[in-house]
Amino acid sequence: MKILIVNAGSSSLKYQLVDMDGEKMLAKGLIERIGMPEYGHHECKIGGEKVLDWKDGRILSHVEACQMMLAALTDKEYGCIKDMSEIGAVGHRVLHGGSQITESVIITPEVEKVIEDNIPLGPLHNRANLQGIQACKAVMPDTPMVAVFDTAFHQTMPPKAYMYGVPYEYYEKLHVRRYGFHGTSHRFVSKRTAEFLGKDPKELKMIVCHLGNGSSLSAVNGGKCVDTSMGLTPLEGVIMGTRSGVMDPAVLQFICNSEKIDINEMLNICNQKSGLVGISGVSNDMRDVDTAASEGNERAILARDMLIYGIKKYIGAYAAAMNGVDVIVFTAGIGENNCRLREDVMKDMDFMGAKLDVEKNNELAWPHVHEAIISAPDSKVTICVIPTNEEIAIARDTKELVEAASK
Ligand code: ADP
Repeated sequence: MKILIVNAGSSSLKYQLVDMDGEKMLAKGLIERIGMPEYGHHECKIGGEKVLDWKDGRILSHVEACQMMLAALTDKEYGCIKDMSEIGAVGHRVLHGGSQITESVIITPEVEKVIEDNIPLGPLHNRANLQGIQACKAVMPDTPMVAVFDTAFHQTMPPKAYMYGVPYEYYEKLHVRRYGFHGTSHRFVSKRTAEFLGKDPKELKMIVCHLGNGSSLSAVNGGKCVDTSMGLTPLEGVIMGTRSGVMDPAVLQFICNSEKIDINEMLNICNQKSGLVGISGVSNDMRDVDTAASEGNERAILARDMLIYGIKKYIGAYAAAMNGVDVIVFTAGIGENNCRLREDVMKDMDFMGAKLDVEKNNELAWPHVHEAIISAPDSKVTICVIPTNEEIAIARDTKELVEAASK
């Protein structure tokens, strides 16, 4: 079966076509500036080779973007499928399923309603995700569709982990609570880690460190998420490329009043101008921050130290929450590639029985990233690197649900 994976943003649409026979990626594309007054852009790679780099006109809607995607995939000259009947199902990445959705689901009108109802909790993404679903349905009316939610894996958290200390009525009335994000990655990586170690996930206490441009950590006990660092929105947690991470909320009021800016502008600053870029003044990309730090840039050193310290604190907290930890796993752009950062995070963690094998860790850096154990033989905690693959996780869920429904 061939599965199309779609990730729709407000003005963009990313897609991948995967042949589930061998889980081979056949095509990958990006359509940008949908609905914008300037010209749009459509880039498509087939078999890893760029076959299309179109920027010749406007793209008026997501429906038009979906038509362009299908046209590229089925193109007589460079396409990889004959027609769209070869696409067995579409898996949509969706941000927010609220507390109603705890796993991937076949898209029905009820599921669309849940995505719509959760727009207030993920305004930019959920609205766009829904647009993407509706556009695909318009151009592929007979193809089954599945929604895979970023929040779903975290919905096993107990109330003591997901509630905030504000009056209970805000939870009842407005559903204010921690939801957590990157769930597809945390689920994929925690499951894959257990498989890789030849262990039953039920026996493991695991801390998953998904460190990318957006970063989140989760505590996974017996295969179930019991806590995670992102919150009502992806702003909470460690400092990220452009996000501030957790802080005293009074900081917001103080800055707003002092600088005469409103809360929306302030949150924009917290989401887009803070974190690594805000502290270092160099970049949101950890590679640039690392380079500047190694040249002695003090603010870059500080940004790096803050990230490392934040990760350490969450690891400590989650080990305490689970009464121990068996595995610490690193994943995503920084977690997989940045051996220096892993080394600094794991420094002085022997109090909890976690000891890195520095040499093994150093061997595992870009471009030599693969699944590996990087802890010392006498470490009580297994430390490993497991590359994430959210697309494959979405494709697998989609295939499984569609096959089960057709039985
Ligand atoms: P996103 O959250 O956008 O999916 P990624 O998981 O791609 O982000 O992570 C982006 C981060 O990973 C950047 O800060 C970048 O510095 C880091 N990164 C990505 N590739 C490499 C690499 N080859 N070597 C070191 N760092 C990398």
